[in-house]
Amino acid sequence: PESKKAQIGVTGLAVMGSNIARNFARNGYTVALHNRSIAKTDALIAEHGSDGDFVRTETVAEFVDALERPRRVLIMVKAGDATDAVIGELADAMETGDIIIDGGNALYTDTIRRERALAERGLHFVGAGISGGEEGALNGPSIMPGGPAESYKSLGPMLESIAANVEGEPCCTHIGPDGSGHFVKMVHNGIEYADMQLIGEAYDLMRQALDMPVTDIAEVFREWNTTELESYLVEITAEVLGQVDAETGKPLVDVVVDAAGQKGTGRWTVKSALDLGIPTTGIAEAVFARALSSATDQRAAASGLAAGTLGAAPTDRDAFIADVKSALYASKVVAYAQGFDQIAAGSAEYGWDVDRGSLATIWRGGCIIRAQFLNRIREAYQENPDLPSLLLAPYFRDAVEAGIDSWRRVVATATTLGIPVPAFASSLSYYDGLRAERLPAALTQGLRDFFGAHTYQRVDKPGTFHTLWSGDR
Ligand code: NAP
Repeated sequence: PESKKAQIGVTGLAVMGSNIARNFARNGYTVALHNRSIAKTDALIAEHGSDGDFVRTETVAEFVDALERPRRVLIMVKAGDATDAVIGELADAMETGDIIIDGGNALYTDTIRRERALAERGLHFVGAGISGGEEGALNGPSIMPGGPAESYKSLGPMLESIAANVEGEPCCTHIGPDGSGHFVKMVHNGIEYADMQLIGEAYDLMRQALDMPVTDIAEVFREWNTTELESYLVEITAEVLGQVDAETGKPLVDVVVDAAGQKGTGRWTVKSALDLGIPTTGIAEAVFARALSSATDQRAAASGLAAGTLGAAPTDRDAFIADVKSALYASKVVAYAQGFDQIAAGSAEYGWDVDRGSLATIWRGGCIIRAQFLNRIREAYQENPDLPSLLLAPYFRDAVEAGIDSWRRVVATATTLGIPVPAFASSLSYYDGLRAERLPAALTQGLRDFFGAHTYQRVDKPGTFHTLWSGDR
């Protein structure tokens, strides 16, 4: 009978899928399980079968048949071709009105394409960004579902029940049509890159400019985590810096190779920012900083390059730490301001109508960038949904203004000491560019008109102008 059927099916039972399946089961849902190879399905049932009501299936036909209608299937497989393959198999077996959810890290343009193709076959496709890693998947991730609003009616309550919850509000809301969910997840990951780069620069400054022992720096981050910087990433920074290598007795961070990897979502964010014409410099610097760190041959060859006459280290340790904290906070505001600008631009480009306040709300828990800070962003957009920049929200404006001198001192000190701070410095330059009354873009326009007759506008009258520059003669 229909009542015995599963309310949700999960296919792809690696780290993410198996934990989300357990999360559904723990929340009282009957969960149909499927994986390309049966081993993962059996392992999940053997180890965690007692978490709740699971239905073991081997073939796609069995899997689809195990579900109540309209069927809901969550795909948690490797992003890319594997996702297309699984969607193809499922779509062949499913019927009009059924819902396919892709919870993997899909590129949003793939999601747009898939949604269109499945809609033609009468199927609902929901591209859902899911953040929080393994722990989030099991205990409550932040979920960013896109797709048809209609499918959210039946799916939303289920997703909201397994999502993280902050102050009684689930970290899951309908983001908008087709690729919107995966788009905002992409920008979320980009912001995560920027956050981590800024934390890294703050650490490096304390290490190099103040010559602080790693354990003392861990203590600083622990203390910062009790302030307006309170966040998951600051919290785990203290943990990572506090870790001692059992083999050598050194701080573990000193025996880890200093070449950062990347899986691609940061790069996607920057590519999209370029296409949309949004200066998402904080994220771009973070992606480039990882690339530079990984250019190990080049770095080895360049290690003898001159540093020039270096400045003096700060003499007041506590004052400099306080400056670094302000610089970190201000640069973080810039990175988020830029990320939310990119979301607004993507939303306008694709007609998604993404509500940035709701997005800040569902990022407060479950995801990697969860932070106190997001409460302030949520308030800023609730107060003014059309805020031209987060930097103009009174709270952030005041915070950045209060720390502006510290921010400049930190970038100046880093520069004179030869310590790379690409994200701190570019964020400050962005801020200065944004607030500038005149930019040298006027000269750029002159040059463009000189060599390419690209024309320009004047400040004192309407119209389009071209000058017969001396070079034209
Ligand atoms: P994964 O390593 O990305 O993928 C492994 C799963 O994909 C296995 O179940 C595998 O089945 C299946 N698979 C691969 N190729 C397939 C194909 N051609 N046909 C059918 N199934 C195929 O797993 P994951 O780390 O759990 O991540 C799942 C998704 O969540 C990914 O899109 C990932 O980007 C996203 N995500 C991951 C995290 C994270 O922290 N790991 C966080 C958020 C989102 P077999 O067992 O048969 O090989």
